[in-house]
Amino acid sequence: MGSPNSPSQATKRHHELVEEIRRLDRAYYEEAQPLVSDQEYDRLYRELLDLEQEHPGLQTPDSPSQRVGGVPLPHFTSVAHAIPMQSLDNTYSATELEAFYDRIQKTLEGEKLGFVMEPKIDGVAVSIRYEKGKFVQGLTRGDGQKGDDITANLRTIRNLPLEIKNHAAILEVRGEVYYPRAAFDKLNKQREAAGEAPFANPRNAAAGTLKQLDSRLVAKRPLSIVLYGPGEMHGIDCATQQEWLKLIAKAGLPVPEKTWFCKTKAELLSAVEELDTARRNFAYETDGAVVKLNEWRLRNALGATSKAPRWAIAYKYSAEKAVTTLEKVTFQVGRTGVITPVAELKPVLLAGTTVSRATLHNFEEIKRKDIRLGDHVTIEKAGEIIPAVLGAVVEARTGEEKEIGSPAECPACQAKPIWDGVFLRCPNPSCPAQTQRKIEHFAQRGAMDIDGMGESLVEQLVAANLVKDPADLYQLTLEQLSGLERMAEKSAQNVLAGIEASKKADLWRLIFGLGILHVGAGSARALASHFGSLEKITEATEEDLLKIRDVGGVVANSVITWFRDGENRELLRRLRQAGVNMKAHQMTVQTGGAKLAGKTFVLTGTLSEPRETIAERIRVAGGKVSSSVSKKTDYVVAGENAGSKLADAERLGVTVLSEKEFAELAES
Ligand code: NAD
Repeated sequence: MGSPNSPSQATKRHHELVEEIRRLDRAYYEEAQPLVSDQEYDRLYRELLDLEQEHPGLQTPDSPSQRVGGVPLPHFTSVAHAIPMQSLDNTYSATELEAFYDRIQKTLEGEKLGFVMEPKIDGVAVSIRYEKGKFVQGLTRGDGQKGDDITANLRTIRNLPLEIKNHAAILEVRGEVYYPRAAFDKLNKQREAAGEAPFANPRNAAAGTLKQLDSRLVAKRPLSIVLYGPGEMHGIDCATQQEWLKLIAKAGLPVPEKTWFCKTKAELLSAVEELDTARRNFAYETDGAVVKLNEWRLRNALGATSKAPRWAIAYKYSAEKAVTTLEKVTFQVGRTGVITPVAELKPVLLAGTTVSRATLHNFEEIKRKDIRLGDHVTIEKAGEIIPAVLGAVVEARTGEEKEIGSPAECPACQAKPIWDGVFLRCPNPSCPAQTQRKIEHFAQRGAMDIDGMGESLVEQLVAANLVKDPADLYQLTLEQLSGLERMAEKSAQNVLAGIEASKKADLWRLIFGLGILHVGAGSARALASHFGSLEKITEATEEDLLKIRDVGGVVANSVITWFRDGENRELLRRLRQAGVNMKAHQMTVQTGGAKLAGKTFVLTGTLSEPRETIAERIRVAGGKVSSSVSKKTDYVVAGENAGSKLADAERLGVTVLSEKEFAELAES
């Protein structure tokens, strides 16, 4: 929004912004319940700054632009910081990051510039004071001038040494207390099971934990800390950020696991990009990069505003959570007929893309979270996962919101849906929506991997009645395909070639592609490598199936039921007739003999081959690949830049292998 021009308009808008930002600050800092995304908050905040710059008379000492957010915690002693703890200016734009560089270059003309870029850890800022090597006090940032004494709670943090290897008279270190991502899910599950409200994110979990009065409770939570900045110091000889990080690391303090040194704008931009990939493996959540001038002498020359230093800036990555309006709920029919409610949202920018739909999971979830039509809802997109609605912002309700009902008929075939536990299901086996999802599932990359068989083509094929089940794909002709809308002959040929190539796919892909209830890619692999052919699986008894390591009662039952069904047998007959491969490319001997039999592996870091290739090698040799490290893990294969999983392995004493060592083990 552009800033209003006339002084009276500007005053009015300024007042509105201050009120709104204070309201949001209260929710964020006092209640740990953000009402809007950080990006949305930062947009309003930026508008306030711009307005005050244009109309300097509006800037009063109590404007949010002049104060570090945060409130004193009740029941803790407030202590003045020897050196104020400031915030950071921030930006979401590469151009502004470049402008920051240019500004410094201009002010410090003739100086050689060097910057250290660190991950921006999304935790709770604290200041830790060591005197003669002993931890004496820990404070929160508070309002920047005074913080709360949380020494007792900080003492319980396992990676924060109570005594360090540097015995300077005073060494104050600042950093971030965080709740490890790996442990966060578990915490929320425990809270939900105990009937407590889950934490919105790991930052809130860390903040909520540090607020506990009983440090024995804090000790039960796996809080960790990373340190990155200096406070008061006596007897420390240090002139740059790089030296400082080395000095505190040598003293035994945990520092960011990766930092970058950059001399040019181009180096800064590429470091920002590298961090965006690397941070996915860090043990803590990060919301950006902090760029800091390396030399302290030059920092002093630049100084600070009342709120933030002029020699540093936070470059924030676009929010992965956002708040928007739930405008409508539509219903999507899945492969097995389950009807899923889908949130149709007012479009919002999230993790770099515009999101207008998100899953609401199921009707029970809607009820449990009390989500209503017209609500402000928080949505989240984690990595590649589809955006999901986390919950409603109850405080933002106007009273106009409406309850979300379940549909009276299947949106695709109008059959009357039936309840199946928490799921609503369309009972019609020839429902076109179900057929479409079945074909999509069969053709997807993780299953038969049919090139060119995308969602819109499948939709057309089903709508034109050309395909009713996967076997029909193998009967398609060039004429039929090129008769479809937007399908040139060349593309039709490519699709046919893709279908032809899929006939040779490995058996597990076919088993998975059939969409047998409870049979995921992992069980499909286990079935294929154990039996070696589809024929053998068809004949298998429950007892045979239960002999397989990865197959339990539920899967065994589902497999038996599926292969007994007359229609499914007919489908298999037609697939066989069409020439689809029904034998495993490679078989493993699960009962010993195989090199990696019974061993569980976790792959992490940058490896020289695609993870799936290495995983396949492990499986073929009888091993198992898991996505997280636990006591049951036998080996962690760590490539470059390995992060939290490597740390987990070290903590749990799991054997870590380099790629070379892994290759030797697999060969042995
Ligand atoms: P901030 O979190 O954007 O950045 C400053 C802080 O980053 C520092 O104080 C420090 O604690 C931390 N930090 C992490 N890693 C660091 C590193 N390597 N080096 C230096 N510092 C590092 O600013 P803030 O003042 O803590 O909080 C303001 C921000 O909080 C806003 O910009 C907004 O994004 C968010 N906020 C959101 C809402 C909302 O409603 N969503 C409300 C209030 C504030």
